[in-house]
Amino acid sequence: MGKPTGFIEFARELPQDRDPLERVADWDEFHEHFPDERLRDQGARCMDCGIPFCHLGDIVSQGDKGSGCPINNLIPEWNDLVYRGLWQEALERLHKTNNFPEFTGRVCPAPCEGACVVGINAPPVTIKSVECAIVDKGFEMGWIVPEPPDKRTGKKVAVVGSGPAGLACAAQLNRAGHWVSVYERADRIGGLLMYGIPNMKLDKKKVVQRRVDLMEAEGVKFVTRTEIGADLPATQLVEENDALVLCGGATKPNDLPIEGRDLQGIYFAMDFLHANTKSLLDSNHADGNYISAKDKHVIVIGGGDTGTDCVGTSMRHGCKTLSQFEIMPRPPDERAPDNPWPQWPNVYKLDYGQEEAKARFGDDPRTYLIMTQRFVGNDEGRVKELHTVNIEWDKDENGRFTPVPIEGTEKVWPADLVLLAMGFRGPEDAMIEQLGVERDERSNARAEHEKYATSVEGVFAAGDMRRGQSLVVWAINEGRGAAREVDRYLMGSTQLP
Ligand SMILES: Cc1cc2nc3c(=O)[nH]c(=O)nc-3n(C[C@H](O)[C@H](O)[C@H](O)COP(=O)(O)OP(=O)(O)OC[C@H]3O[C@@H](n4cnc5c(N)ncnc54)[C@H](O)[C@@H]3O)c2cc1C
Ligand code: SF4
Repeated sequence: MGKPTGFIEFARELPQDRDPLERVADWDEFHEHFPDERLRDQGARCMDCGIPFCHLGDIVSQGDKGSGCPINNLIPEWNDLVYRGLWQEALERLHKTNNFPEFTGRVCPAPCEGACVVGINAPPVTIKSVECAIVDKGFEMGWIVPEPPDKRTGKKVAVVGSGPAGLACAAQLNRAGHWVSVYERADRIGGLLMYGIPNMKLDKKKVVQRRVDLMEAEGVKFVTRTEIGADLPATQLVEENDALVLCGGATKPNDLPIEGRDLQGIYFAMDFLHANTKSLLDSNHADGNYISAKDKHVIVIGGGDTGTDCVGTSMRHGCKTLSQFEIMPRPPDERAPDNPWPQWPNVYKLDYGQEEAKARFGDDPRTYLIMTQRFVGNDEGRVKELHTVNIEWDKDENGRFTPVPIEGTEKVWPADLVLLAMGFRGPEDAMIEQLGVERDERSNARAEHEKYATSVEGVFAAGDMRRGQSLVVWAINEGRGAAREVDRYLMGSTQLP
């Protein structure tokens, strides 16, 4: 701990994001960086406390967001090293636990900060910004270079899916000397890092592709445009490899099967986001192969990360109006009594998309405790209105909370484009069924956390495909863990963490 009084002397500061009205005019990242000196002060706020809850992911479990860092980043160590100006050493510590800090440093919701001890009675340490700065400096200084393994084991492993789970798994297995091939049905590698999270949050060419290129230079083979279960039977991968790891994500979206759902102009969020990023990368949108929100009344149904990304994307297209519906109540401004430190704080937050909508239209676009009852179309079969009602949550006869419409609160909203961002139901069927892998009650591939072995010999599962839709940092945790267990399976023992 470099500066025992750091947390008293320095206030929490975050680098200012780019101005919302300026940034909606482009697709560049909206985060700015602090100069080294100010980051040192932020690193100095870390108390190196006796029990660093920040890096003990899951010690006080609370669903997916948990408490603390899911990959056990050695946070107090690198905070101290940044304070001392020892950036390269900080980078080494960071890479010990995290293959892709440039991703988490940009998109992680930072459960570590919710568990920071300084946060008990003051604003927590700016852990995520420090993490991002360490790895960005590493790239800038040329410290991050391909590191192929010294020896090869001769074993072959196939990984299906190139999201953060598949990439972390491939990186670790390659490090252990196995030949790894990653199969991806999309035309670019990265899973939701590439085609889910938009460019302004995580730059595709400068950040995602840079890491993919590094892994390729280290010996990982990437096979794109190949859907396992359709273009290639999953069983063929089992026959041709010594192990197979399924990292196909949880991509089946929840639908809203109400009156008018078949009207044109109603899309799943992922169709909107995927096409937008692909067209941006292929042609800077010149090919027109995306669903445009320009001059449209846009309604986003769903208030989570995916919904926020639809808001930010619609803002950049130049939508006419924007509303976002959330069926749950507005979270409190401060932690509720049943949500104490070090749990993830369920508090109200204006995320980047809503901040942009507020700057342009004057208000947070979200309406809480609202339910869509039907879509109404025009003569050409295009959606023109949404009919909603406000709700309250009440217990039904089985004691389960259910939404109850409040009479007299019906409302009609003009709508030309409706984006459904209501979460995901689990993984797709083809590959799992071809292999005969057992599923759990939520339809995910059944495999124990920390073990990752499925019901089929030599087949493992990790990431959203095993745990359901979650976070990038959990996918990295699972990919690394699955690699460790595959290595143990292939070699009898393992030194992978
Ligand atoms: C729009 C959106 C925004 C998000 N924003 C954030 C965020 O800001 N921060 C955060 O932490 N988390 C975020 N998440 C969640 C996070 O992206 C996921 O939890 C994470 O990417 C899961 O990683 P994964 O590797 O398990 O799966 P994925 O990233 O989903 O990757 C799975 C890959 O497998 C491929 N695939 C599937 N089946 C096959 C097959 N049969 N053959 C070949 N390839 C196949 C898919 O094409 C895909 O590329 C977001 C999710 C969405 C949808
Ligand atoms: S990966 Fe996420 S939880 Fe872990 S230190 Fe980084 S921001 Fe915090």
